[in-house]
Amino acid sequence: MQDQTDRVAIVTGASRGIGAAIAERLAADGFTVVINYAGDAASAENLACRIEANGGRALTAKADVADPEAVKRMFDATEAAFGGIDVLINNAGILKTAALAETSDDEFDRHFAINTKGTFNTLREAARRMRSGGRIVNFSSTTLALNLPGYAVYNATKAAVEALTHVFAKELRGRDITVNAVAPGPVATDLFLSGKSEDLVAQFAKMPPLERLGQPGDIASVVAFLVGPAAGWVNGQILRANGGLA
Ligand code: NAP
Repeated sequence: MQDQTDRVAIVTGASRGIGAAIAERLAADGFTVVINYAGDAASAENLACRIEANGGRALTAKADVADPEAVKRMFDATEAAFGGIDVLINNAGILKTAALAETSDDEFDRHFAINTKGTFNTLREAARRMRSGGRIVNFSSTTLALNLPGYAVYNATKAAVEALTHVFAKELRGRDITVNAVAPGPVATDLFLSGKSEDLVAQFAKMPPLERLGQPGDIASVVAFLVGPAAGWVNGQILRANGGLA
């Protein structure tokens, strides 16, 4: 366990799935965590209670990351409560697979609003406010390397996130802030499992040479590394965590 006492981390989309595992792990490593969510207040509150019961510090923050004003308010609330921001994990995201020809304008816009604009909104606030020594981790996906049918729009949103990651790392020159992205393979969360048959899930699980689905904790460990002292020299990189899938 790394001691990160007095460092403050915002984790977007942390009410469940990978984000919840990240919030729990960073709290165990000593970070004060802000648990962002869009709708599932009960899960966010339960997580905050669990973290506090284990001796950590946590705050819940409802904010649709697609809404720049809501994101600004979340950063304001974090600064008011804890005095500053040291870590931003841009984990919030959605996935609905569909053939490009069958994707509606609304679905296209919703994916870009949350996955890409949501990341942009928080990065812009971080550029203005993050303390020296900060760490930013964005979320891409290994699906970008697979080019499977049905993933055109989702992959496009994540390609944009990778582009933001590379450029933003350079724009923060002189600030002692790293910007990286994690690109998970299939992880057993609602986002991956919903709408898939047991057979299809089993097929995905067999794809990586390690022959299993990722678990949220697998990704939380990678994020904990990237925001910890051991990764201080890793900057502007996309780290695939997928059991060797691609
Ligand atoms: P998940 O289980 O569906 O959880 C999504 C989280 O994002 C929830 O906490 C949800 O909050 C939040 N969220 C959704 N829309 C939001 C918005 N507009 N503003 C703020 N929060 C919002 O998803 P997951 O599997 O943990 O995915 C996390 C990240 O990993 C995503 O960026 C995803 O693209 C990426 N990823 C996942 C996989 C995988 O296989 N699972 C693979 C590669 C990449 P509410 O509950 O309040 O709605």
